[in-house]
Amino acid sequence: MSVLEAAPTAVLTASTAVLTASTAPVATPLDDARSQLASAIDVLGYGAGLQSLLSTPRREMTVAVPLRRDDGSTSLFTGYRVQHNLSRGPAKGGLRYSPGVTLDEVRALAMWMTWKCALIDVPFGGAKGGVTIDPRQFSQAELERVTRRYTSEILPIIGPEKDIPAPDMGTDERTMAWIMDTYSVNVGYTVPGIVTGKPISLGGSHGRASATSRGVTHIALAALRHRGISQHGATAAVQGFGKVGHDAAVFLTDAGVRVIAVSDQYGAVYNRNGLDFTRLSAYVAATGRVVGYDGAEPLDGDALLELPVDLLVPAAVEGVLHEGNAARVSARIIVEGANGPTSPAADRIFAENGQLVVPDILANAGGVLVSYFEWVQGNQAYWWNADEVEHKLEERMLGAWQQVVEYAVARDLSLRAAATVLAVERVAEAHLLRGLYP
Ligand code: GLU
Repeated sequence: MSVLEAAPTAVLTASTAVLTASTAPVATPLDDARSQLASAIDVLGYGAGLQSLLSTPRREMTVAVPLRRDDGSTSLFTGYRVQHNLSRGPAKGGLRYSPGVTLDEVRALAMWMTWKCALIDVPFGGAKGGVTIDPRQFSQAELERVTRRYTSEILPIIGPEKDIPAPDMGTDERTMAWIMDTYSVNVGYTVPGIVTGKPISLGGSHGRASATSRGVTHIALAALRHRGISQHGATAAVQGFGKVGHDAAVFLTDAGVRVIAVSDQYGAVYNRNGLDFTRLSAYVAATGRVVGYDGAEPLDGDALLELPVDLLVPAAVEGVLHEGNAARVSARIIVEGANGPTSPAADRIFAENGQLVVPDILANAGGVLVSYFEWVQGNQAYWWNADEVEHKLEERMLGAWQQVVEYAVARDLSLRAAATVLAVERVAEAHLLRGLYP
């Protein structure tokens, strides 16, 4: 072979190697979700056909969302709604406003919603929505126009018996009110059941706004008991000071846990004696960030994940605990307030180190559980008081915890594997009983 013939091959090999090295395989949330599903399918012994069906969304929609800015110019965003599975009932899941939202991320989040709803045994399938917008950069009027346009674009596939959105990162009860109004105006009558997480005056449920954090707290306290750690004086660090992290930190503190560090996207703060959330919350309300709070020392956001605490609550985004940092995480218990914070590689490291991981589909299911209560109350036009909601939330969350722990012990599985297997089995059973059409 001449040099000329050989050269292209050599060049190709070298450049491929460079390409591989510089684009090192970064697992996406969808990779993580599919790998968790594959492990559950392995345990259940299902075939490849069922696995590919459960790995793939049932229906997905990508829409352009043009916005007329307050200054008269136009911006364009992309919106998604993914319905992962409908075997057990209408699709259910939040709507996320975040500049980095991708279709694959929404697919992963929709799949986790399917398992979450099945695990806590509410009659819903799983869905998720997203719009590629940073809500902090836009006025209320602009966010209202984006929300109404997105809603009208996905209108054909949503409805109280089809797919019911709810708040997620970057959206709130006001967003839900706009969705409800847009949908209602389009169909010609008021439809409160089109969304959950609504303002109470529009048919929202007591306890919905804090439900995810309440659930995280019930599960975290159960996990501490399970590991023989007294909640009084146990130490905790919470990543994320948004809808889930803030209230979880407050509820844990109320329960006697010493929350020594919290973070947001700008950084973290640390006080070894425990943070004073009355003061810190007031500071955050005034400045929009935890950094600079004078009742604590500053801390690097990533360092928070590695603090030697009894309890770590990642309550921000996906993929924060991964192969690169898991070995340095020294928390005894990790309770996932966020969806998908732990990669499968990190899970393996935590298992080897004897750390207990309580998976998202169990730990943060309180939100969709109270969404279900809201949907039931709306369907019956009969409203429960705050105590009833709290009581039913605690009962259902601790019931699910018990089931997962017993299943994990009986089959020698991690809590994540046990929760996923239980959930996937329920979804598969519904699918198999209904049969494949046609
Ligand atoms: N966005 C929340 C979650 O990830 C709640 C979804 C809902 O209530 O439908 O669980």
